[in-house]
Amino acid sequence: MATVMKKVDAVIVGFGWTGAIMAKELTEAGLNVLALERGPMQDTYPDGNYPQVIDELTYSVRKKLFQDISKETVTIRHSVNDIALPNRQLGAFLPGNGVGGAGLHWSGVHFRVDPIELRMRSHYEERYGKSFIPKDMTIQDFGVSYEELEPFFDYAEKVFGTSGQAWTVNGQRVGEGKGGNPYAPDRSNPFPLESQKNTVSAQLFQKAATAVGYKPYNLPSANTSGPYTNPYGAQMGPCNFCGFCSGYVCYMYSKASPNVNILPALKPLPNFELRPNSHVLRVNLDSTKTKATGVTYIDGQGREIEQPADLVILGAFQFHNVRLMLLSGIGKPYDPISGEGVVGKNFAYQNLATIKAFFDKDTHTNNFIGAGGNGVAIDDFNADNFDHGPHGFVGGSPMWVNQAGSRPIAGTSNPRALRPGAVPGNAPPPITTPIRCRWTPTARISPTAAITWISTRYTAMPTACRCCG
Ligand SMILES: Cc1cc2nc3c(=O)[nH]c(=O)nc-3n(C[C@H](O)[C@H](O)[C@H](O)COP(=O)(O)OP(=O)(O)OC[C@H]3O[C@@H](n4cnc5c(N)ncnc54)[C@H](O)[C@@H]3O)c2cc1C
Ligand code: SF4
Repeated sequence: MATVMKKVDAVIVGFGWTGAIMAKELTEAGLNVLALERGPMQDTYPDGNYPQVIDELTYSVRKKLFQDISKETVTIRHSVNDIALPNRQLGAFLPGNGVGGAGLHWSGVHFRVDPIELRMRSHYEERYGKSFIPKDMTIQDFGVSYEELEPFFDYAEKVFGTSGQAWTVNGQRVGEGKGGNPYAPDRSNPFPLESQKNTVSAQLFQKAATAVGYKPYNLPSANTSGPYTNPYGAQMGPCNFCGFCSGYVCYMYSKASPNVNILPALKPLPNFELRPNSHVLRVNLDSTKTKATGVTYIDGQGREIEQPADLVILGAFQFHNVRLMLLSGIGKPYDPISGEGVVGKNFAYQNLATIKAFFDKDTHTNNFIGAGGNGVAIDDFNADNFDHGPHGFVGGSPMWVNQAGSRPIAGTSNPRALRPGAVPGNAPPPITTPIRCRWTPTARISPTAAITWISTRYTAMPTACRCCG
């Protein structure tokens, strides 16, 4: 029998970026807000304490901050006829858990969406004709325009303390020769912080891209280029390029997170409560099955609790939201055969391919420094910035050198004895890639597929380099 709690105006499921932003907006509107987070309480102090947080084995290898998939995981199947199997090894897909969600251990690359991607179907049909998009392709317009969203992007960047260089502000060109992106849409304000400094590898990419006629720009990053105080009074310190963004809590208060940028403003409010270790099982509905009346969750002691609320906000991340909706009988599940239903339709995860570039031994870079969102990119092949007509696909990708920092374990070259096929005491197996190089790769170039459809991505990665072999 569930214990029934006192009703609140709004209950929010999950406390990542979505939950934190909604909590701030709704408390400002005067509502009593309760946030339920399935994971533990965590914050810069004590979870991001230096030096304990600079522990690659604990965080990157053993994946301390992510969802523990030995307890609960997602299942995967490649077609509706397959048996869905549990994902038992985390790879690129790293779901957040605990207060701050993935926002606590994200990297900080902080783009605005390209305007045409918000009206993708209309845009491609207007430019290339109605028949360009195949009949079975499900892309559609978002139903909201860049112009409508611009004030919210602007405010979010102020809350996050985003570093970057505008190209135009209210139609006035301000970013030429300063690292602005000529393909970027107009903005109502400059970035709150100037761009971060570029690493040597990013400078090399900038030089090479310029030489062949592309238009390099500084990546907008939610890693600070200097000290900053956001509109909520939250303070951030300047990023020191330690290289421990992705997968870690930033001990310098330099990477935007719900914990650093929003939670301090929520904590003192009498109309806000955060309950960690509260795993929501379902959204409760009224007898008509059309109106949410609250949620049921399991608390830290394993008790079943019913939390009534006028408003239920699902901020548990896309597929957790879908799962909760399906478990609660909300909406019509998407059927990929008939194309009917919308719950679970069009989920897309980011696609990222990496190309390693090797330079001669006189080109020195320091791979161990970096920041999650730092780097130089080109948008010449992104969105619809080039003619798709002859190519037969839609969408594109930025390409960038994003030096996030090679940490000691991942950044160490594969020693001779550990090379695949090596036998102790015997000569190491031959190296197949005839590339002259320094002992570690000095640049990483990542085309990121914003839209994935008939887009060919590849990874060219020599197994080892000749000069250290
Ligand atoms: C390592 C890493 C690097 C990334 N880098 C970037 C980047 O550079 N740029 C970028 O734009 N994006 C990046 N992302 C993606 C970005 O961080 C996420 O898309 C974003 O943080 C998602 O926010 P969210 O609030 O929607 O979900 P989440 O942050 O996942 O928050 C959802 C919260 O809900 C909780 N929850 C789930 N189910 C329940 C339940 N049943 N009951 C209660 N609570 C529940 C979870 O524990 C979690 O805390 C990165 C992600 C990762 C993992
Ligand atoms: S690189 Fe900068 S933002 Fe990232 S963890 Fe280090 S200090 Fe923080």
